[in-house]
Amino acid sequence: MLFKEIDKTTIILANCGKSGPRVRRVPTFLLRTWQRWVGLFFFVLVALIATLCLIVYQNTSRDYQARLDRANYIRSKIDVEQIQSSFMAIDSGLYQLNSFLNERGLSHFQIDENMGNLGGIPEDIDATEVASVGVFFEKELTSLLSDLKSLPLGKPYDGDITSKFGWRRSPFNRRIGENHTGIDFKGAIGDTICTTASGLVKESNYNSGYGHFIVVQHSDTLQTLYAHLSRRLVKVGDKVDTGQPIGLLGNTGRSKGAHLHYEVIHNCRKINPEPFLLQ
Ligand SMILES: [Zn+2]
Repeated sequence: MLFKEIDKTTIILANCGKSGPRVRRVPTFLLRTWQRWVGLFFFVLVALIATLCLIVYQNTSRDYQARLDRANYIRSKIDVEQIQSSFMAIDSGLYQLNSFLNERGLSHFQIDENMGNLGGIPEDIDATEVASVGVFFEKELTSLLSDLKSLPLGKPYDGDITSKFGWRRSPFNRRIGENHTGIDFKGAIGDTICTTASGLVKESNYNSGYGHFIVVQHSDTLQTLYAHLSRRLVKVGDKVDTGQPIGLLGNTGRSKGAHLHYEVIHNCRKINPEPFLLQ
């Protein structure tokens, strides 16, 4: 095979140290067209950089557009008026529950009547406030549920009520009036008495007035008392659940006949247990 001899130019590299001048043979066409090759190199480099920048830009803007579309979609789905209406309904429900507690001498919320709501809903709610209002209601509902769980509801014993809360003629001297601090349920000695809410036994003791009695602490502000028992089944510090037997009905202490004397105590004040009985 025949190859055409490439025309080469000899270059002498002088001043190469101890080894002396060096001789290189370079194709002559390269020497004639080197500016073109350098230009081509820079053109390719610039093109590569530009392509890279374009890819990065496209990916970034596509991601941004996707997030923007998602945000617009979410905004279009949020019906602020409906949310406001739902929040007002929740607010109203909480308000009614609070009224229920108020009727029983208890109060969960400090409601400002001028506000018209619990104070968690801005008058002109916008989409950005939905989350914070949701958190407000979540907190209030959790707190309310905790209060309701510790509310002594129902009867501690299913017997006839023989004496109500308030002023009455003394059973020991009918000519004298006295303040009856609880409700009396008539029953048979030995019948089971159950606690009306979960809590901790604060007192399990005997005195001349109450006889054998038990006090259960349901929350920071609520206690119930069960008196004139023939026997106590729990001791101080015991944890009790709603409906758990805590004692047996009796006739101990200042009592005329077998009965249970039941008290509800709120903030150290004895209140009428009747609204809690849910008859
Ligand atoms: Zn009584």
